[in-house]
Amino acid sequence: MADRSQRVLVIVAHPDDAESWAGGTIAKLVRAGAQVAYCIVTNGDKGSGDRSMTPERLAATRQAEQRDAASVLGVGTVDFLGFPDCEVENTRQMRMTVTAAIRRHRPDLLLTQDPNRTKLLGASHRDHRIVGEIALDCVSPLARAHLAFPELLDQGLEPHTVKEVHLMVWWDRSDLVVDISETIEVKIAALACYVSQIPDRAALDKNVRERAARLGKPVGYRYAEVFARMVIDGSGRGFP
Ligand SMILES: [Zn+2]
Repeated sequence: MADRSQRVLVIVAHPDDAESWAGGTIAKLVRAGAQVAYCIVTNGDKGSGDRSMTPERLAATRQAEQRDAASVLGVGTVDFLGFPDCEVENTRQMRMTVTAAIRRHRPDLLLTQDPNRTKLLGASHRDHRIVGEIALDCVSPLARAHLAFPELLDQGLEPHTVKEVHLMVWWDRSDLVVDISETIEVKIAALACYVSQIPDRAALDKNVRERAARLGKPVGYRYAEVFARMVIDGSGRGFP
């Protein structure tokens, strides 16, 4: 699945998104020798039902939880872009920031969120959809077009072509099923870092196993995660 030189970048909206959708796959990539980095677009400062919580305290808590979870999975780098939760927009500034992240990390494989609305409203949170759309806009053409954002060239951020994107889909439209039977424990351990979001460890364990078992069943895996796979036209063959 990954060779030792593979570089992987995960671009998601919130702390906990990467582990919820792809924690078992990320652990598997790390075990195969890939270098994995995270780019977390928002600071997660709205995700609380506690009326005494402040956005500043929540952002600090969730960033600390995200760092702990990444370290459980063996993810080497966690970049926080720091945009406000629930307010992601596909602006020029945002696209330039995400393009800069892609050119800096230079991934072969990029994992990001599904830009489509689905029937599961929580899964297709506006930040998830818009981050997925931004990431794809940046993969092609912005990260690989040298005339896009000339200010990035001035910073030494040369164009880069991502070879493949795996969209984190919740259940439908998947065409890539990853066997996470050997990494489900580490996925659950990573998600257990998010005490502010998922305080009930027993329910977490049960829910993660049930979903992963349901996704794996059609192909005979004990536990699985699913993605929509996109191979980028022209990757490895210059600009199309
Ligand atoms: Zn989220």
